[in-house]
Amino acid sequence: MKTVNARAVFGLNEPFKATTIERRDVGPKDVLIEIKYAGICHSDIHHARGEWQEETYPLVPGHEIAGIVAEVGSDVTKHKVGDRVGVGCMVNSCGECENCLKGEEQYCLNGMTGTYAGVDKYGDGSRTLGGYSTHIVVTEDFVLKIPEGIELDAAAPLLCAGITTYSPLRHWEAGEGKKVAVIGLGGLGHMAVKLAHAMGAEVTVLSRSLDKKEDGLKLGADHYYATEDEATFKTLAKNFDLIINTVSAKVDVDSFLSLLKLNGALVNVGAPPEPLSLNVFNLLGNRRTFAGSMIGGIPQTQEMLDFCAEHNLGAEIEVISADEIDEAYERVVASDVRYRFVIDIATMA
Ligand code: NAP
Ligand code: ZN
Repeated sequence: MKTVNARAVFGLNEPFKATTIERRDVGPKDVLIEIKYAGICHSDIHHARGEWQEETYPLVPGHEIAGIVAEVGSDVTKHKVGDRVGVGCMVNSCGECENCLKGEEQYCLNGMTGTYAGVDKYGDGSRTLGGYSTHIVVTEDFVLKIPEGIELDAAAPLLCAGITTYSPLRHWEAGEGKKVAVIGLGGLGHMAVKLAHAMGAEVTVLSRSLDKKEDGLKLGADHYYATEDEATFKTLAKNFDLIINTVSAKVDVDSFLSLLKLNGALVNVGAPPEPLSLNVFNLLGNRRTFAGSMIGGIPQTQEMLDFCAEHNLGAEIEVISADEIDEAYERVVASDVRYRFVIDIATMA
């Protein structure tokens, strides 16, 4: 066991505190990673605030991890000491079910192991603790390679915000000749804009206001509309092939469905605690789809990282110290983030 520094919440609505946690010994297939940066995802906030489920404390969030390999087990073949690596939302899965065999481990039929707030049932049975810590031990198959050319701080958010938007963009075939809209310009939303633009799609941002219009256009959007303006829904009626909803709160699904063309899809990646509802007639009329998508598999996560390197893409980030996590959470909830907070783990000494 190795005792390492971390930041944790010890109860509902409590602030983050400095603490130490135990990391398991490096097994034959394990990689010990010295974490350099950890992104702050809105999912961390849903968890830390008990918005999705009753949590077990202490909770150490963090599933946007970028660092350097510090040690490898005797049977490790994919990574070596000194490599630049990342870990996303999963650290294990059964590896044997139909979905794992397809490389869609996030949909493991026996349940994948979350990087935090999970139980490592395929490993040592311990409760998982995430990336707001100086080190993590992960089985080599769930460790990604961060290509040269992407700085580690800008790479960290790709491990969740990047893959969560890349995966549906690929599945619903965003690309040339396709009109793609992104609802919400936050951590996921800004990556969706960059990725969809790099894939060649015509991209529209649907934000509540025009406050971030200049940024949105710089990120690669062709058009930018405010959803608080009712005229937007008339102007853009039956316009899009694909809409990616990244909003962390409840939205009016019917209004957004009305913006889809024949055969268009509205894909929810946002995970608000409260249920969404819709009028089925908005699906029937134009054979529309309302769908969801959860992160992406390990092979596709590597594909996304390589795609980002090829297209010179990283997240737009604000680096903070470990003492600023509570403040950053408040700012994310207030949509005062441009566009991802990343913790500099060196400040956790
Ligand atoms: P974020 O940075 O807070 O961005 C969310 C954006 O939604 C905001 O920037 C804002 O955009 C908009 N928004 C926020 N509150 C709103 C409200 N009350 N009404 C309308 N719009 C609102 O969050 P994130 O980290 O991108 O995460 C977004 C959601 O995705 C979270 O629910 C998170 O848990 C979920 N998530 C899902 C997956 C998955 O696998 N499916 C993975 C990661 C995260 P504007 O200011 O531009 O309107
Ligand atoms: Zn996330």
